[in-house]
Formats: sequence, structure tokens, C-alpha cells
Amino acid sequence: TILSDPALIAVLDMIEQGGHRAYLVGGAVRNALLGVTVDDIDIATDAHPEEVVALARAARLKPVPTGIDHGTVTVVSEGIGFEVTTFRRDVETDGRHATVAFSGELAEDAARRDFTMNALYADRTGRVIDPVGGIPDLHAGRLRFVGDPKARIVEDYLRILRFFRFLAWYGREAQPEAIAACAELRPGLDRIAKERIGAEMRKLLSAPNPAPAIALMAQTGVLVQILPGADPSHLAALIAAEEDAPPNWSRRLAALGADDPAGMLRLSRGEAKAQAVLSDAIAAKPGLDAAGYHLGLETATDLALIHIAQGEALPEGWRERLADAASSPLPISARDLSPPLTGKAIGRGLQAAEALWIASGFKTPAPALIDAALLAGEEE
Ligand code: ATP
Ligand code: MG
Repeated sequence: TILSDPALIAVLDMIEQGGHRAYLVGGAVRNALLGVTVDDIDIATDAHPEEVVALARAARLKPVPTGIDHGTVTVVSEGIGFEVTTFRRDVETDGRHATVAFSGELAEDAARRDFTMNALYADRTGRVIDPVGGIPDLHAGRLRFVGDPKARIVEDYLRILRFFRFLAWYGREAQPEAIAACAELRPGLDRIAKERIGAEMRKLLSAPNPAPAIALMAQTGVLVQILPGADPSHLAALIAAEEDAPPNWSRRLAALGADDPAGMLRLSRGEAKAQAVLSDAIAAKPGLDAAGYHLGLETATDLALIHIAQGEALPEGWRERLADAASSPLPISARDLSPPLTGKAIGRGLQAAEALWIASGFKTPAPALIDAALLAGEEE
């Protein structure tokens, strides 16, 4: 189990030998109880951040003050970072980030967490502490806010999206008052930084099957609040068409066809480019050979899956066709055309050769491609 990891034990020892309490908390406990992979481990403690820093130094572990104002110190043990956060309670809020104060009480720390299944604690022996009834909710797939949904959302509107994110991953049943609260309070999402919205949406769309959660987001008006123009109607069909392919948030986002996903979610340059290429191709509907040749296997496969989801019938063996096309580079280059061609004529010639190459199913021999290219290049 994760509790036998020596890197983790060193951090727990470090805190406890300093006279403080240390608990695993949040996603690590939730996922361990579900038997799914735990990516990163968060630790909650009654020790104040400066004490955590001092204890880590004394134990020859590396403290990094990643969020010391919020009570978080990342402690690096055997090359792995553990986020150690002092128990906190909410004191006030601007709707964007809850302002917190340190607390000595685990129960107060639990009360400021978002969902009951995220407010579980485990000590080093594996004993689980469940101050707000998260375990039965977790096993029933019930996603429930800690406290009153409306009150918790106005403290931090990002919790609306976290609600749908955890619903997509771990929920089978959504709390009806929470759905109503998300619908009513959705305009508050306009106040949340777009990169935080983007981070939640990436995670949501990476769930094994995000379609039901996205459908509920659409019903409540939350989806168009953050992604104007998004249409969720083909998403379920896309998930079905994906079969066992690894979840890919970018493909799923493109399938929603939102007006400006890159801007609304503050995607990186590379991510934005991928969205633009896919959305252009969705509209242009190239044939299989052209798609594979121009887009490469991965993007062309994404495109094919989206077209299937939109109800188009692709011929049997379409994956092999794409793979062939993607691995059939044009067998001639500019050097074969120049001389006699120069300047723009070379580009015209290569384009003509490409068109012939694709149209012939990548069979035209090089001399014939050169002839076609020279002919097209010489035309004005
Ligand atoms: P993941 O496996 O995706 O990392 P996680 O539960 O660890 O899931 P994080 O976003 O890493 O999710 O947050 C860690 C924990 O911090 C959550 O489990 C929750 O208890 C608390 N938390 C995070 N963000 C909020 C928030 N906006 N409001 C209240 N509690 C939050
Ligand atoms: Mg986490």
C-alpha cells in the first residue's frame, strides 16, 4: 500500500517526531479506498508551516515553500514531493479563493474541504478518520458538498466545476440541491481565473466517461457559461467510438465545438494549435487519405472518431487507411523541381504533386509526380 512507501514514512516520521500529528488527506485517501491509483500525496498537520520547514531541515528533507501563506510546504523526500498543509478553517471569502486561518483541529480542516469524499484522513497505520460522513458517500458514488452547497459555492465558484469533475470521476449520483445550486450560481464562474477553469476541465474531460457529467453541465447552463457555443450532443457517441483508446481531453474538447476553447480555458500555445487544427478539419471533412497524409495518424484518428460520433459512416479498415496515408510521405522534393522551376512555381508544383499522390492512393511513381509538378509549376 502507499503507507509502506519509505519516502512517505520519512515525512510522517519527521512531523510526528517533532511532536505533531500527520495525516494523509484528500485524493490520496479517497483513491486508496477506491483501489485506484494515487498520483500525489497530500498531508495535513497541526504543525504550522514554519515548524514544518524547520522539522524538514532537521530531518535532512528538503522543504520548498510552495504556498506558505496558505499553509503549504512541499517536502521533498527521496525525490518525491509531498504537500504538507497546516489544518485550516475558512474565515472569509471573495468568491475566488477562500481566505483561511490556521487551526489545530482536524474537524475544522474537514469542514472547509469541498466534498465529503475529499474530506477523508488516514494516519500512518491506515486508520481512516471520516469527520463528515465521506466513506458511505464514496462507496455509494454520492458526490455531496460538505455543508450547504450554495454557501460553499459562493465562497469559491470554482467548486461548481469541481462538482462536475468529481462527479465524472467518482460519482454515480449527484446531490439534487447541489445541481440546483450550480445552475443558480453559474454566473459566478465569470469571476474565476480562466487557467483554473481550464485545469478543472482538462481533468473532467480526462475521466473514463465524462459524457453524463457534461450532459448535466449542459442542462444546468454551466457548460455554455464557461464554453460558449459548446454542444454536448455528440460526446456520448464519441466516448462509445473511442472503445479502449486512452482518454484524451483535447479530442473530447474539440468534439464539443465551442466557439473559443483556447481562450476560454487559457490553453497553452500547443494545446490551442491542436484545437484549431482539429476544429478546422472537422469542418473541412477531408477524405481518409488526405486526413492521414496532412494531419498525421494521431490527429487524423481523433478526427475520424469525431466524424463517427457525428453519425458519419467510415469504411471498414479506416484505421489502416489512415496509418498508410500517414506513413506515405511525398517521394519527391523541391530539389527535384529546381531547376527548371524557381520561387513560387516550386510550391505550386509540389502542391499539384501532393494532390496527385493522395488521389492515387500513394501509388504514383516519382517520375510521373515530377512531370505533374513541372506542368503545374509552369502554368501561371
Ligand atoms: P486529484 O486526484 O485530481 O488530485 P484531489 O482530491 O487530490 O484529486 P486536488 O484538486 O488535488 O484534488 O485537491 C486536494 C484536496 O484539497 C481535495 O481533495 C479537497 O479536500 C481540497 N480542495 C482542493 N480545492 C478545493 C476547493 N476549491 N475548495 C475546497 N476544498 C478544496
Ligand atoms: Mg490532488
